[in-house]
Amino acid sequence: MATSTVPGCGPLTVSISSALESALRERCRLTGSTPDHVVQEALARLLEVEHHTVFQVSTATALVQGVYQGCVTVGTIKRHGNFGLGTYDSLDGEGLMLDGRVWHAKADGSVVEASDGETAPFWVSADFKADRSAILSSVTGWDDLCAQLDRMRRSANLFAAVRIDGTFDRITYRVACKAAPGVGLVAATSHQAEFGMDKVEGTLLGFWSPSYARNFNVPGYHLHLLSRDRQRGGHVLGVQGHNLSVQIMDADNLAVALPHSGAFLEADLSQDPSAALSKAEGAGNKSA
Ligand SMILES: [Zn+2]
Repeated sequence: MATSTVPGCGPLTVSISSALESALRERCRLTGSTPDHVVQEALARLLEVEHHTVFQVSTATALVQGVYQGCVTVGTIKRHGNFGLGTYDSLDGEGLMLDGRVWHAKADGSVVEASDGETAPFWVSADFKADRSAILSSVTGWDDLCAQLDRMRRSANLFAAVRIDGTFDRITYRVACKAAPGVGLVAATSHQAEFGMDKVEGTLLGFWSPSYARNFNVPGYHLHLLSRDRQRGGHVLGVQGHNLSVQIMDADNLAVALPHSGAFLEADLSQDPSAALSKAEGAGNKSA
């Protein structure tokens, strides 16, 4: 009997039709994915093997450095999940993706559905399937929410997608305003529009990223709000509520599509973006 010396991994040689091969190459060209990733994703779906991938466009450091040029369309993003967040070309507002539909929060705090042709310079998405869920009977603020979510996560070293549904007693959020290329994220968000609402029904959606991923993503929790009536939304700064329904998905696979043209190629991405991210993206430093 033949046995593998490297169980669970290693190259596998298969023959596929030329039509499939060209479709595979086209998918890789359009999405920036590798053939390994596309084949793995397709097989996992076909064979119903659970794998929880976070798909990301560009990096947090690039955003901090002012690389705001949209590089992936909403149409393409929809092929990489049904859930996620990001921003749009020129840092024009906040992106929200819930149950397969993509929304665009505008600088006045209102929300419209995004067209498939809009482009994003930064996005994070996933196919959301909850690994565990809970009801949070009381959330007194951002730090309290984070502490309660921490207890639901499996590890400090895995990514997680987070969905919270309910009626929020109080929520504060901001929407990024359009910025010129090269204006760093801290300066660009220093004049951002902030909003506060009481008794708002809706969903908070987003991700938790490990601190080691700080060059790629926003470390810690990064949540966006989409109101249930799809009228309001943005980047969450503070929250209070009761009886909130939380679902968490662990993610053990990270796929990153890097821009292959424009300012990204020239940007200095060697710096640690932590301090700038905490200032520009940080929640919890606002009272809920
Ligand atoms: Zn955000």
